[in-house]
Amino acid sequence: MASEPGTPADAPGGAVTAADDTAEGFAVPGFDAVARLAAHSLRAPVVSLVLATGSSYWFSADDAQRPHSPHALHPLYVEAARRDGTQVVLDTQADQRFGQAPLLTDVGLAAMRFFASEPVYTLSGQHVGALCVMDYAPRDGLTPKERDDLRDAAELAGTGLVLGSYLGRTDPVTQLPHRNAFFEDLRARQRGGAHRAWLLAIDVAPVSRFNAFVRALGHAYADELLRDVAARVQLWMPRHTHLYQVGSHRFAAVLPDTPHTVDAAQLDALVHRLRQPFDCLGIPLTLQPGVGLLQMDVRELDGGDPLRLVMSATHAAQHCVRGWSIYEPADDEQHRQEFFLVTELAAALGEGTELDLHYQPRVELASGRCVAVEALARWQHPTLGAIPPGRFIALAEQAGLMRTLTLWVLRQAIAQLAAWHRQGLELKLSLNVSSSDLGAELIDQLTAVAASHQVALDAIELEFTESTLLEHSDTTREHLAAIRALGVGIAIDDFGTGYSNLTSLRQMPATSLKIDQSFVRAMGASRHDGAIVRAMAELAHELGFRVVVEGVETPQIFEAVRRMACDEVQGFHIARPMPAAEIAGWLARRASPTA
Ligand code: C2E
Ligand code: MG
Ligand code: MG
Repeated sequence: MASEPGTPADAPGGAVTAADDTAEGFAVPGFDAVARLAAHSLRAPVVSLVLATGSSYWFSADDAQRPHSPHALHPLYVEAARRDGTQVVLDTQADQRFGQAPLLTDVGLAAMRFFASEPVYTLSGQHVGALCVMDYAPRDGLTPKERDDLRDAAELAGTGLVLGSYLGRTDPVTQLPHRNAFFEDLRARQRGGAHRAWLLAIDVAPVSRFNAFVRALGHAYADELLRDVAARVQLWMPRHTHLYQVGSHRFAAVLPDTPHTVDAAQLDALVHRLRQPFDCLGIPLTLQPGVGLLQMDVRELDGGDPLRLVMSATHAAQHCVRGWSIYEPADDEQHRQEFFLVTELAAALGEGTELDLHYQPRVELASGRCVAVEALARWQHPTLGAIPPGRFIALAEQAGLMRTLTLWVLRQAIAQLAAWHRQGLELKLSLNVSSSDLGAELIDQLTAVAASHQVALDAIELEFTESTLLEHSDTTREHLAAIRALGVGIAIDDFGTGYSNLTSLRQMPATSLKIDQSFVRAMGASRHDGAIVRAMAELAHELGFRVVVEGVETPQIFEAVRRMACDEVQGFHIARPMPAAEIAGWLARRASPTA
């Protein structure tokens, strides 16, 4: 892949940057003029604009010494671009930081002795980089006028950067060229006679996960995170390759078409880099990146949508161990189907006629009574038939439809519970909620819907998975505590499938614990699984949870579970999930088995 891994992208061309096939497209508007003015008024032969993302733009007053974009930015530039203040180094030779690494020889110029930089801001005050001036000779300092001139030039450079995004080529947050630029540059290759191109795309996290970051940590955090991701990718990029921002959290590049374009070790290295935690604004975060690759025929650019295709490889990569994958038509087909299903699900949620809830009884072992029912969503698609919840819940999650779905379930199920209560059936209700549902909105909705149907909140239990309950953020803890304070129960669903240890179990603010059916179903075949279920039930009981055993399918398992420290059972042996209308009849038959 990269011919020289670990070297940053060379600077997309400034006015006098090294010859580069796509250089003029990347110019920061006005940079040439700003650099010329700064060079003149500060008597500085070399001027550069270095961005926090690692991109840099170069100008030399001396035509004979045209600067090449550096392969690796000297740490001084990186520091200048990231530090919010003026920096002046009067003589780099007298400064021990540069003893090992003379400034700028890698830019194709004689070593620089004097260096000064001024931070560059966008109009909204965002710090995006630094304007640097350099000289071959050391200096005594900058005069007050020179300081003013440098500040003015930095301000003008900031205006140019903003203008660049207005002109539709760069992203205002990362300052990377964006989607339009990506296609314009591919077209330029096409006009230049190129046939093949390798596209690389990166998605930092699945949409639902990224949206959850933004919700929890805010837009400023997301912006900073994207800049950090871009900087990390730039450090990996092959030389003469540009990184584009093609979506809110997606990047792309056109790789050099060499025989080694797909080098597994290099791609592994990129994924490894992106999987390392980011320490952004002091908050550590781990992404779930996917890297996709696609070889395309540039001559067919106009008929197709290569970005969509490479993105389907990227999405497949997010869910594979390796973290990168090469485009397969099957990925695209799956992607298309998922897209189709998502639009159908959104429509079904709007109309509400294809969706329904089934209810599965939960029976208390001590009394033999059905004390609660669990609401389970069902989707009957007019042409595709029944779509299992395992499939559409995951889609709703990815497409950001989960809250709408949960609200629909909540309204439907609580109205049904109220109807059962009116019929004199003393039932409780348990509802499945996903982690993306957890928030103030869910609590408000739950309270409002229960009040409108005059249902007591302690008749309701919310089932969360272990991982949601283990999220260590303060907001998660506060929301769970608020739910408990209302009297609403909290169950740990599918217990045993996550990674919780015994200590974390003690900290979970739950009232009941549902042992996952995979352990229970295996009990018929193996004595060990029986021992595991028994141990889990005892421990959970000791810790004060009400223990529910799910997936009780046979009379043998039912008998075995009866002898354990468990409070309730649920499973096909008792009853399958059924439409609401069948519950009353089922309860009646159970109360008088001979009837
Ligand atoms: P879950 O919450 O663990 O629900 C229990 C699942 O096990 C249900 O599958 C139920 O039909 C099935 N089941 C119950 N007893 C037995 C048994 O004895 N043997 C076997 N083999 N299976 C049994 P279902 O309805 O397909 O739902 C699958 C999952 O989808 C649920 O697992 C839950 O995580 C999710 N889900 C369903 N409805 C909703 C919903 O409204 N919202 C959310 N967020 N998730 C839902
Ligand atoms: Mg459940
Ligand atoms: Mg479960």
